[in-house]
Amino acid sequence: MATLIWNAQIYTPTGILSPGWMWIENRTISRLGSGHPSASDLETAQEKVNAHQNHLLPGLIDLHIHGAMGFEFMDGDLYAIEEIGQFLVQHGVTSFLATTWAASRAALLKALDAIGNAYGRIRNGATLLGAYLEGPYMNPNRAGAQAIQFIRLATDREEALSLIKHEMVKVVSLAPEFPENFWLIDACVSRGITVAAGHTSATYAQMQVAVQHGVSLLTHCFNAMSPLHHREPGVVGAGLSMPELRCELIADNVHVHPLVQRILYQLRGSEGIVLVSDSTRVTGLPDGQYILDNRPVQVKQGKVTLLDGTLAGSCLTLDIALLNFTEAAGIPLEKAILCASLYPARTIGIAHQKGSLEPGKDADLFLMDDDGNILFTMVEGKIVYTRN
Ligand SMILES: [Zn+2]
Repeated sequence: MATLIWNAQIYTPTGILSPGWMWIENRTISRLGSGHPSASDLETAQEKVNAHQNHLLPGLIDLHIHGAMGFEFMDGDLYAIEEIGQFLVQHGVTSFLATTWAASRAALLKALDAIGNAYGRIRNGATLLGAYLEGPYMNPNRAGAQAIQFIRLATDREEALSLIKHEMVKVVSLAPEFPENFWLIDACVSRGITVAAGHTSATYAQMQVAVQHGVSLLTHCFNAMSPLHHREPGVVGAGLSMPELRCELIADNVHVHPLVQRILYQLRGSEGIVLVSDSTRVTGLPDGQYILDNRPVQVKQGKVTLLDGTLAGSCLTLDIALLNFTEAAGIPLEKAILCASLYPARTIGIAHQKGSLEPGKDADLFLMDDDGNILFTMVEGKIVYTRN
């Protein structure tokens, strides 16, 4: 099966082809170029798509997402995972990590079992790349909306190992200030798992040690971590300054002020940032009251809060995050897109296969118009969503 997309503005890592064309063979981008396609390509392609000068972008990769449309990965349910995967392609997301949160060992193992079973392509949906364990080994003082009774230290090594033994676990987020958690950093790094610092009160000095051990990511930078203080730079100070760390950013303009998003970009550039949604089951649903992790939450104008006002994840989608961040940072889309495609791919070591529009990579992509509408989304060579 050969597909030709032509008359597109194609966003490649080295610049925009305007217009450009792309030849897709089965699941893979085989060739692309600027100008118009050859007459023979136009003749022989089985599927031809005129992109009408719209923006052809690499598929978005959401590393940190808990759920959408009334479903969450903690449901431990295959149907829930499929529903989320099918929702995501409507927003240009072509692959993602299913994220857990602090819960009992049994609940976490149940969620990981379901994620393990759904691992890979989801029918008419985005590709499930694996699991992101957000906790449970974090700092209760930085719980945010995580259920505090399930936050613990990694003293039960057998439990921690039972969580990370699955090959599909790609990211583990923990609080590195506790000596009890330190062995787990090494255990993850030796298995090729990316380790994030998150829900943490670590000092800058503790972060330096953690980074030496291989911590390479910050879970939702600025949120649920020790802030920048001029005498104690904290986790935020580490994220703003250390090239070894990539910073997740929830660019919904609620979790982080647009100016602070811009400051992060000015200090770290595209390469230091991965846009994440951190979205919960309320994403895609109308404003109102819902139950999240057994607690009531209020959803109002893009903000999800516990009844005491604590932010409880987001109702953000990554396409909106991309547009918000482009504006907040004051940068062209071609720079911002890297934070939602190539750099997430690098963060979990899959950039040889995904994350950019280049020959040899998976044909994961979406077409967007000037107003930010997603016109179609392709996952591994197959169009799985078309806007009505
Ligand atoms: Zn989260």
